[in-house]
Amino acid sequence: MAMMTIQIYNTATRQKEIFEPINPPVILMYNCGPTVYDYFHIGNARNFVVADTVRRYLEFVGYRVRFVQNFTDIDEKIIRRAHETGEPWDKLAERFIEEYFRAADALGIQRATVHPRATEHIPQMITLVERLIARGLAYVVQGNVYFRVRHFPAYGELSGKNIDELEEGARVEVEEHKEDPLDFALWKAAKPGEPSWPSPWGPGRPGWHIECSAMALTHLGETIDIHSGGCDLIFPHHENERAQSMGASGKPFVRYWLHNGFLTIDKEKMSKSLGNFFTINEVLAKYPPSVVRFYLLSAHYRHPLDYSDAALEESRSAVGRIREAVISAEKLFELMDPAIAPPSEAEPSTEVARFETAFCDAMSDDFNTPRAIAAIFEAVADLNAWRLKLVQDPRNPALAADVAGLINLIHRLLAVLGLDDLIFGDSKQEHVEERQLAHELIDILIRTRQKARELKQFTLADFIREELSKLNIRLQDLPTGTIWIKD
Ligand code: AMP
Ligand code: ZN
Repeated sequence: MAMMTIQIYNTATRQKEIFEPINPPVILMYNCGPTVYDYFHIGNARNFVVADTVRRYLEFVGYRVRFVQNFTDIDEKIIRRAHETGEPWDKLAERFIEEYFRAADALGIQRATVHPRATEHIPQMITLVERLIARGLAYVVQGNVYFRVRHFPAYGELSGKNIDELEEGARVEVEEHKEDPLDFALWKAAKPGEPSWPSPWGPGRPGWHIECSAMALTHLGETIDIHSGGCDLIFPHHENERAQSMGASGKPFVRYWLHNGFLTIDKEKMSKSLGNFFTINEVLAKYPPSVVRFYLLSAHYRHPLDYSDAALEESRSAVGRIREAVISAEKLFELMDPAIAPPSEAEPSTEVARFETAFCDAMSDDFNTPRAIAAIFEAVADLNAWRLKLVQDPRNPALAADVAGLINLIHRLLAVLGLDDLIFGDSKQEHVEERQLAHELIDILIRTRQKARELKQFTLADFIREELSKLNIRLQDLPTGTIWIKD
């Protein structure tokens, strides 16, 4: 299969590389999903929307993406929140998994191929930890298991950190029984009042990093094509995940590490711990999902994106311009004689195809969504111009085919960005509602005419018939009542 060349910026090599999947057309992709102790915020949403858009584009060019996004459904934050609210920790996690799906569905984020939950992979995590112990890469202290960082020579390669500098910077943590402050927990001995699972080292729970290693291994295998997440995860989460996975398998773990930049507020990272965040529900209460998703894609995924009402309002007006252009053109076809209006599958001319080329060039260049959106806007500008020409020259079939081709293309490209359904979904609904309303209004006119005839007001009755016939609506009086036919 001839695939388009795609370049991806790989965090591990700090450069754009040509994307060469291990086993095309299948692509194995893992995205670090939410820790489910609360509603996610608009910064987290950026990560989910970026990963979903990457996946959609890869599928658009012909790949089949096996996409895994986990739920971290056990960790300190969940335990702490459960203590605060008095809700059982597992019920709390379950509730926020449902909330995740609700908001993600609203934002047009497609369901992953698999959504594994950490708590459903405890045996796989234990096996992985055992393997690391057997290889001398992990050790047990009082029911805890730690990863022996100094024994994994490739440690620090992903984040570009020097192990000795890390050592100097490392706080001597409370866990003083570690061999080295750099070592991190794979398994944590149970504490009173906290959830725990049995293990060969006594009851306990997994560390955060081992969860992702185990879930990626279970659902994708030892070596995967793309691993994504926010750039706050590069160190330590992904560095540790990599050390564990490679340490256990002896094989490469990830071919392309893809990290999105922060969503910021007043130039500061939006985060729960800083308290400077807006939950997705708060944002969706103010702006429709199409506007929120458009805004999240309006910057390149690696750049920071600042949150402000002004930025969201700008996105609102941009989405409005696309919507208006497409709906106006579609309405024009509805009004046109069907003999002239081309079928919606009209082949686009080369004129139209150039917008698709510009869009794909942008997306293939490390998923440059702002440039891809600019290509859509060029198509929108042409659509407006060509629509006006078509109004003047409605019997020009080549022009009509181009306008129809452009409408189709804009829908298709918006769909790659996950925006088409969000922008036009309600307009399809509106369309159905408008049609229903039209039918009801015609029925009212027919009954009014009936009333007029009963009252012997024949001039009014004829007036109604004639006015309707101007709209090509013909009335037929049958013994059972009056029906109408649209010519
Ligand atoms: P969490 O639920 O905190 O584990 O985060 C879920 C995902 O959102 C991770 O991939 C994070 O890296 C990402 N993330 C968190 N905060 C931000 C932010 N302000 N901007 C962009 N991505 C973020
Ligand atoms: Zn992870």
